[in-house]
Amino acid sequence: MDVWFYEEHKQNLRLNYRVKRVLAHKKTDYQELVVVETENYGRTLVLDGAVQLTVRDEFIYHEMIAHVPLFTHPDPQKVLVIGGGDGGTVRETLKHKEVNEVHLVEIDPEVVAAAREYFPETSAGLSDKRVHVHYADGIRFVAEQEGAFDVIIVDSSDPVGPAEGLFGKQFYADVARALKPDGLFVAQTESPWANQDILPRIYAGIRATFPIARLYLATVPTYPGWLWSFTLGSKKHDPLTVDPARIPDLGCRYYTPELHRAAFTLPRFVGDLLEKPADPFA
Ligand code: SAM
Repeated sequence: MDVWFYEEHKQNLRLNYRVKRVLAHKKTDYQELVVVETENYGRTLVLDGAVQLTVRDEFIYHEMIAHVPLFTHPDPQKVLVIGGGDGGTVRETLKHKEVNEVHLVEIDPEVVAAAREYFPETSAGLSDKRVHVHYADGIRFVAEQEGAFDVIIVDSSDPVGPAEGLFGKQFYADVARALKPDGLFVAQTESPWANQDILPRIYAGIRATFPIARLYLATVPTYPGWLWSFTLGSKKHDPLTVDPARIPDLGCRYYTPELHRAAFTLPRFVGDLLEKPADPFA
């Protein structure tokens, strides 16, 4: 049997994966959820046709979305993760000894249930006693907070469906209010290669809200374009002034103290993209 799953990226481009087995396929209240075992990347979580994580390369995204902000803040005690129902970001967050409270706000309980069943290495941290799981819309949850968090991590799906509002200016203003006076936040901000139509607008929204806004990159093979971006918005602490000698070894496979700063060094086309209108042919 020759079974393939594809992620339709644009009308004229599809990414294909040879599938060994389909483990789950259901329509939740929010999205279509699929878990497949692929030949190259192992178990893979797919929401509304978009790959969210694979067991083979999830460490890259989760280490980079968690450790860059958490090592930029000098004392990150209270952390909010929005989205991220697979638990990977929470797992990395818990590696920081200063962290004593993590709130995960995931809109779809079925994602957490699937993660617990099919991705135990990714989701194990969700049972840690420091972690509080809320099944709620992150947009509404954040709007109700004030001065509560040291670090907010927006580990969302793409800006369509329930995640659309997580990329809006109003949401960024609410995030700023939910943070403590020296708080900072990071969001996954799509691919500077594959999403040139939306990245400049997302970055501009964060830059207009926070005194410090910095975009950084990682290579994630199973996300469209491979090259992936994260944007950090901060009230006070600048990721570029972190001393690498102060960063302990957490045994990461992608993140290193040197990479903490290097990830902010942008290829010219990415820097240009942040300043110019989007390329209509991207
Ligand atoms: N790393 C992933 C990526 O970029 O493909 C994101 C992974 S994580 C599974 C994304 C999660 O965000 C999903 O489980 C989805 O249900 C959740 N989500 C989407 N919109 C949300 C919202 N408004 N509030 C809370 N969670 C949301």
